Amino acid sequence: MKVALISVHGDPTLQAGGKDAGGMNIYIREVAHRLKSEGIEIDIFTREHNRQEELEEEFEALNIIYINAGDPDIDKTGIFSDLDKFVEGVLNYSSRQNQSYELIYAHYWLSGVVAIELKNAWNVPVITSFHTIQGIKKENFPFNKDNQEREKQERIISLQSDSIIVWSSHEKKFIEQNFGVKPSKISVIPPGVDLDLFHPINIQEARRKIQMQERIRTILYVGRIERLKGLDMLLKALSQIHHEDTFLYIIGGMYNVEEVNRLKKICIDLNLNEKVHFIGSISRKQLKYYYNSADLHVLPSYYESFGLSVLESAACGKPSIASKVGGLPSIIRDNETGFLLEQRSLDSLIKKIEILLNDKELSETMGRAARKQAENLDWDIAINQLKNLFDKLTSK
Ligand code: UDP
Repeated sequence: MKVALISVHGDPTLQAGGKDAGGMNIYIREVAHRLKSEGIEIDIFTREHNRQEELEEEFEALNIIYINAGDPDIDKTGIFSDLDKFVEGVLNYSSRQNQSYELIYAHYWLSGVVAIELKNAWNVPVITSFHTIQGIKKENFPFNKDNQEREKQERIISLQSDSIIVWSSHEKKFIEQNFGVKPSKISVIPPGVDLDLFHPINIQEARRKIQMQERIRTILYVGRIERLKGLDMLLKALSQIHHEDTFLYIIGGMYNVEEVNRLKKICIDLNLNEKVHFIGSISRKQLKYYYNSADLHVLPSYYESFGLSVLESAACGKPSIASKVGGLPSIIRDNETGFLLEQRSLDSLIKKIEILLNDKELSETMGRAARKQAENLDWDIAINQLKNLFDKLTSK
């Protein structure tokens, strides 16, 4: 089977944690190379950009086609008006190469717009994964800025796609209720986690690998540095935790200068400069040492459609504290594998961090339960479900 995977703004080889590169990029590279081993050939179409120095490493297994579509430096909120050029570029490539596709798999609303145009040209089914949906994000995140077209387009794409993949039942319900899509058209297929890469390692051994002091207590954040992630609340919590030896490690690229400066100012105001380490972005291979060096992981986001970092932390046997929003309740079992924060409550965040820092036995029990739960989200399960869906759509 030959599939055209459309990821307009998300080059899967970009270092995750950097500008506009995160869970979706990781998902696409994992899915594309794992489906390839199952005999499904995937051509990935993404936009030409000038970010060569941010590419993580060579991914020989991935066939990536870069499409010239407008200013390569523009960020994702400005791409919409160049999407017709992207469609044209994909159509030109397929006719030049005499390459046809049996299925289109689109990622994020921008790619959904492209996919519906390609569907009309090629007459093949389209699967869309939105990754985030504007309507849900808006309900939870007061500082949301996005392209005005997005909400309208998400409805059109939902109605015109042959199938929609979501990562949690929360999004499925939203699409059914707000866009009037039949439940049978929406499949909940959560991503997996690479259990060979992310696994428990002795904490002192992990700390030695990254030269972290042995006797400190460490709270870890992993992800893009964006206001949506709610890191300001974590800084406020840290300032009220009265243990001299507690440090916060923030992993993620520093490209969002406005947010980084805002967070650094909060650190100065709260006298936290000595306690917060901005590490920058870290490669997949090194990340496991950070997860394993931490006492706990925190994701205090306003909204997350899933939260891959929680799953990775769980696979390393560490509990997470995260907001009770979006897909996070589908990965954290409250009081068992970590804690979920109702209403993103600061008081509750402080309390839960203190519990995990002070009660080592509880923290280890939760970490073991988290690992066990992560073992049920091995990539094989997701890949099987995707394969079945691809077969169903192409055999019609
Ligand atoms: N990530 C990474 N290096 C970094 C920071 C993040 O590889 O320096 C990865 C992280 O391991 C996770 C992804 O980026 O796989 C972030 O996904 P998540 O779902 O947590 O957040 P999103 O970016 O989708 O909002």
